Amino acid sequence: MSTRDSKILGMLGGGQLGRFFVVAAQKLGYRVFVLDPDKKSPAGLVADQHICKNFDDYDALDNIIENCFAVTTEFENIPSTTLAYLEKSITVHPSSFAVSIAQNRIKEKNFLQDNNFPVGPFKVIEKKDHIDQVPHNFFPAILKVAQFGYDGKGQKMVTNIEELNQAFVQLNFVPCVLEKKLSLDIEISVVMGRSLNSNSVCLPLAENQHKNGILDITISPARVSENIASKAREYAQAIAEKLDYVGVLAVEFFIVDNTLYINEIAPRPHNSGHYSLDACNLNQFDLQVRTLTDLELLDPEPHTKSVMVNLLGDIWFANKDKLREPNFNILLNEANVRLHFYGKEEPRRGRKMAHFNVLGDDLNNILDKAKKLKKLLMN
Ligand code: ADP
Ligand code: MG
Repeated sequence: MSTRDSKILGMLGGGQLGRFFVVAAQKLGYRVFVLDPDKKSPAGLVADQHICKNFDDYDALDNIIENCFAVTTEFENIPSTTLAYLEKSITVHPSSFAVSIAQNRIKEKNFLQDNNFPVGPFKVIEKKDHIDQVPHNFFPAILKVAQFGYDGKGQKMVTNIEELNQAFVQLNFVPCVLEKKLSLDIEISVVMGRSLNSNSVCLPLAENQHKNGILDITISPARVSENIASKAREYAQAIAEKLDYVGVLAVEFFIVDNTLYINEIAPRPHNSGHYSLDACNLNQFDLQVRTLTDLELLDPEPHTKSVMVNLLGDIWFANKDKLREPNFNILLNEANVRLHFYGKEEPRRGRKMAHFNVLGDDLNNILDKAKKLKKLLMN
């Protein structure tokens, strides 16, 4: 067995992001242990070893310490105590500190504001008293749970104090952030990798369109000026530096009247970086492997433009409410379309099941094509 064969990496979380990491790591000759409590988790199914235990199971963590030389995460809700425990014995990227900020909207907003990064107007709502201090001109606004929200879940639109009170009750009085609803011109994201020696590289900028709070389409490169693009990259790199970040970091931005606001950060690869699987010489999961193993951090270069379309469980139910298998040959018969399934057995509404990338040099053409293909799948 070569030295490389004996190298084992750990992945905390078994979702589709973890699955793509496992594949990227295995290609480079690493073996991967995946920790996830779900027997059928997408990453667990392709792992060299699936440790089917909870994230705070210390026997499972000791198993990782004994076998893995470095561990990373695909899921920001990994308890930071888990990361801190692993950190005492093996390499952990990103750090428990960075994850603790990114996994809590209150800490995240305060961190960004304290370091003079631009964020939209927000209020911390931790108890009913805080609601009484919200000025009337703050509405419409969005109440977001500080932890465990994703894909627009744990968020409520409110237009006045009374609705805010009701929303806080519905969210069980958990700590929240109230954000003024901004009138967005466009949303973009930067996915970047930063290595132990502080080198960093960015994927081409992504332009993101959401439906019902869930990412629907990513267009790359984003249709913004070079000035905005370079500012966004500078902010992302400055955030990574402040967090002493090692690994892959995603930064989501809102653009309002040509001004950038940071929406949120994710301490992991990101759905809006999935186009890189097919459009770049190195994808975001290659970057994650490279930053974790301290390999040379090469610059990800696009060889084409691309449009990514998310496929939610909803398309299995598009035909009234009867479950049916969509005709994926519509995508498979296209030369410049790449389909990626996540290995999830059960389609559910709102559940990310797969995505496809449409590749080509003319952004308008491929955007049109992507939308037409999605529509055909719904028939
Ligand atoms: P999640 O963690 O679910 O991605 P986000 O805070 O990113 O939550 O919100 C999901 C989407 O909802 C955003 O990408 C954006 O389209 C919309 N959104 C969130 N906050 C605001 C806001 N303050 N103003 C306008 N739109 C918002
Ligand atoms: Mg988001």
